[in-house]
Amino acid sequence: MGGHDRRTVRDLRRSNRAAVLRLLYFEGPLSRQELGPATGLSSGSISNVVTELLAEGVLEEAGSVGSDGGRPRTLLRVARQSACLVGVDVGETRVRVELFDLMLTEVARSEQPLDDGGHDVSLVVRLIEKGLAAVLAQVGESTGPLLGVGVGVPGIVERRSHGGALVHGQTVGWDAVPLEEMLRESAGLADGDGSPGGAVGALAGRHRARSVPLLIGNGAKTLGQAEMWFGAGRGARDAVIALIGSGVGACVVTGGEPYGGASSGAGEWGHTVLAVGGRACRCGARGCLEAYVGAGGVIARWREAGGEPGSGDEESALAELLATGRGEGARARIAAAVLEETAEYLGAGIADLVNLFNPERIVIGGWAGLLLGPQLLPAVRTATDAYALRYPAARTAVELCRLGPDAVTVGAATLPLRRFLDAGGSPPPGVALSV
Ligand SMILES: [Zn+2]
Repeated sequence: MGGHDRRTVRDLRRSNRAAVLRLLYFEGPLSRQELGPATGLSSGSISNVVTELLAEGVLEEAGSVGSDGGRPRTLLRVARQSACLVGVDVGETRVRVELFDLMLTEVARSEQPLDDGGHDVSLVVRLIEKGLAAVLAQVGESTGPLLGVGVGVPGIVERRSHGGALVHGQTVGWDAVPLEEMLRESAGLADGDGSPGGAVGALAGRHRARSVPLLIGNGAKTLGQAEMWFGAGRGARDAVIALIGSGVGACVVTGGEPYGGASSGAGEWGHTVLAVGGRACRCGARGCLEAYVGAGGVIARWREAGGEPGSGDEESALAELLATGRGEGARARIAAAVLEETAEYLGAGIADLVNLFNPERIVIGGWAGLLLGPQLLPAVRTATDAYALRYPAARTAVELCRLGPDAVTVGAATLPLRRFLDAGGSPPPGVALSV
């Protein structure tokens, strides 16, 4: 009985702290008086929680506002420098590591190119370690404690109760890769004898790295979470955030929460079939949407149509396609036709999302999506209307992401951030979990 009561009291305290912290995080600064009605907590509970969080340094005062005839009200906000978070984007052309303050403003970043499309897992692990060391060296001792490291990956992330997360990244040849275990061993984020040197060793010392949570999630889903919290998805309950880069993925949000399906594999929009028996896809199937609108697919179609992309990377080839399509002459006509076709394929893929999920908003992001978007969006909308059912299509807005092409790192950092907010701002426990 006693144990049960204690647990209940502790849970209640944590949920009160989480309610106050979450509200101040997303809506702050606010006064104590405003926190009551918005959280449904009594003024006594608000006062206790705020006193605790101020003493812990998680909150800070942010000036005051006058109230009608009464005493001025002190405003409260989350103290952005009280802690830091790391987000890692394992892309197909590079590994990017960013360190953020608690409000997810970038403090330091490191980017390492990946020449082999991310196939070599041990190289990816080494680059993440190198990136972590680089960002920590940039910030020195100036940051608050590290709340966790979030990693966004191209693939389905399987959560296991023991042994850490496995990544099934079929398009990059990752077959049940034990990424979490490998990262813990390599980056000194876990128990182990090998004491890591350099900045990662410093991380282990300064932040008691054995207890730094390492959380791994699908890149498109983490991007979706970031856009829902801070970007174009804000305020929506039912939305789809589409990530278009070398690969194509999506985060389906229903009732305000990302939808994972039975085993976290939902939202693999890039591998829905656009043409039976169509173009070969990296996943091994034929006719997938990704083979038509992923950066590689668009460039391959341009080449097959007689366009001659330069020898640069995918990003410069796609920029060249857009610029060529705005010009005049035979080469411009070829490029314009490829772009027109791309808009129609993309519109058809988006129409499938409209018909399946009836979202209020579809948000297009990813580096290729944001490169193509400004020029193609009107044609994409027209194609969506032509392929989708009229009633839901008329109620779906199609927009571009607002957090920019690098938002997967922000998304990855939302993994440990979400954990921190849910725990009511308590420091992470010593047991690391994957999501
Ligand atoms: Zn495929």
